[in-house]
Amino acid sequence: MCGIVGIVQQQETKIGKTIIEALTKLEYRGYDSVGIASIFDNKVLITKDQGKISEVTERIDINKIKGKIAIGHTRWATHGPPTKENAHPHTDCSGEISVIHNGIVENFRALKEELLNQGHSFQSETDTEIIPHMIEQLVKKEDILLKEAIIQVVRRLEGTFAICVVSSLEPDKIFCAKRDSPLVIGINSDRMFCASDIPAFLDKTRKVVLLHDDEFVTLSSEGYEIIDFNTMVKIQRKPHIVSWKPEMAQKAGFPHFMLKEIHEQPNSLADYIRIKQPALNKIADKIYNAEKIFLLAAGTAHYSTLTGEHLIRKYAKKSCSAIISSEYESITSLIDEDTVILPVSQSGETMDTIMAIKNAKELGASILSAVNVIGSTITRHSDEVLYLYAGPEIGVAATKTYTAQTIAMWDIGLELGKLSGEIDNSEYLAARKLFQEIPTVVKQTIVRNEARANHIASWFAKKNSSFYLGRGLNLQTANEGALKMKEISYIHSEAYPAGESKHGPIALVEEDYPVVFVAPKDQTNKKMISNIMEMKARGATAIIVMEEGDKEIEELAKWKLEVPKGYSEMLTTIPYIIPLQVLAYYTAVRKNLNPDYPKNLSKVVTVL
Ligand code: GLU
Repeated sequence: MCGIVGIVQQQETKIGKTIIEALTKLEYRGYDSVGIASIFDNKVLITKDQGKISEVTERIDINKIKGKIAIGHTRWATHGPPTKENAHPHTDCSGEISVIHNGIVENFRALKEELLNQGHSFQSETDTEIIPHMIEQLVKKEDILLKEAIIQVVRRLEGTFAICVVSSLEPDKIFCAKRDSPLVIGINSDRMFCASDIPAFLDKTRKVVLLHDDEFVTLSSEGYEIIDFNTMVKIQRKPHIVSWKPEMAQKAGFPHFMLKEIHEQPNSLADYIRIKQPALNKIADKIYNAEKIFLLAAGTAHYSTLTGEHLIRKYAKKSCSAIISSEYESITSLIDEDTVILPVSQSGETMDTIMAIKNAKELGASILSAVNVIGSTITRHSDEVLYLYAGPEIGVAATKTYTAQTIAMWDIGLELGKLSGEIDNSEYLAARKLFQEIPTVVKQTIVRNEARANHIASWFAKKNSSFYLGRGLNLQTANEGALKMKEISYIHSEAYPAGESKHGPIALVEEDYPVVFVAPKDQTNKKMISNIMEMKARGATAIIVMEEGDKEIEELAKWKLEVPKGYSEMLTTIPYIIPLQVLAYYTAVRKNLNPDYPKNLSKVVTVL
């Protein structure tokens, strides 16, 4: 995920400033580095550096960037850390062809190998840099016209991309192509824009054309031409006028980033599943051969590590513990060369976790991490990293990064099951098939529960306190659900193992007291029924996250939240959290609170 923008206009202006203004509107999509390619005097000029827009523009004078045509990029690194060299735009060997890219080229290794054999040299570690070199190869060595060359190149790319190309070979045009990553065109009378998202140019024009997958666009200051890059058929698409306010546009029409990010989960999970990570098997092997295993995390990530702990015990048949990072002290006496530490973090900058892994490393442990932000401190201290590929998360309350962390735990768990023989080959293949279906199930779960959660929220919003009860694997779903509720709606919410609730919590239950149960149809189901009965007998109001069609449970619920059938054991911790995310979101909204910025909390906790 990153922000890309392009401008081609009739007049020569200080175009760098306009590009930076547009990129600033897209900063929620990426903030690792900033770069611009402009054409002046028939030469491509690249200006780029590491850091946020505000930092980079302090170091470079963007007013110096003049011209009629430019493209700009804010990066969310996926291949190679956030350095100046890895910042986009990237160019070919001659510096005449310049490319910005949003997405991941999955077959870049093979293509890079081919280009290296043809004599191309590379300046970055990115997947993107192969694109200008591939274009160069066709244009310069095979005499193919620039437009045709770009089309041939994008046809060979596997993965996701939205790219913009400018070149001194055709200095008055921007060429764009997309598959899966977003790209839109904005139209003014004397200039044309292209961008990852509408907010980039919303203050300049409301006339917009949305591009579809496998489309190629030629932009000039006079207009645009769209073709299907597979069939070469010309596509006629008229612009439409958007009525969004700029603030709404950044959130893709959702009222809050949190709701947008909840809805992004089918895509972020699909990205995680699609991208093959060489680190996965190495991590599984090292865990399998380790004597001692500790998972380390803070906040929401801790609840994902509880899924990891459960799966490592079950599938690797190894003793292992999920430790809260700030409690690391309690295990230091156990750490040595035979220890594996598995830190899990969204930002990779959580100070408690960083301090713990630095110490563990000194004591000889292997550090195998699962992190969202590439190049972050935790990744730099790790022996192996499994990336979460969830993209930037703006809402302080973690949603899509929790499901990404949890799917990473399942990914490791399934490999361990195969290694230990705990899962036989047919079970493994069945589990992997289910794994592929997770994005669809998550999508169905969001659609099915939003209106229900909103309705329940009107009642929940009036409460001061609640319990969330779960058993087994879904104790962590209850924990994470309670955390979401307390952090954004400020209603005291406490999670308990359902069986333990009679040893204390039940004393607080009175008429109409909210108790949320996570009750999938698995081996915990019968016992959960008894726990629900116990609570109801004291007047509790039962809100139950249950499997669709589970009649016995349904009869006990005042309100049900439903997950599609078939996920009662494998992978439950992913779909079962979804209704609890939407319940917390709508409860905060009903209380007129802004779920994106809860008081006293910050997204990245860099203090001890
Ligand atoms: N895969 C590219 C990179 O790592 C693009 C990432 C993005 O979408 O910002 O540079």
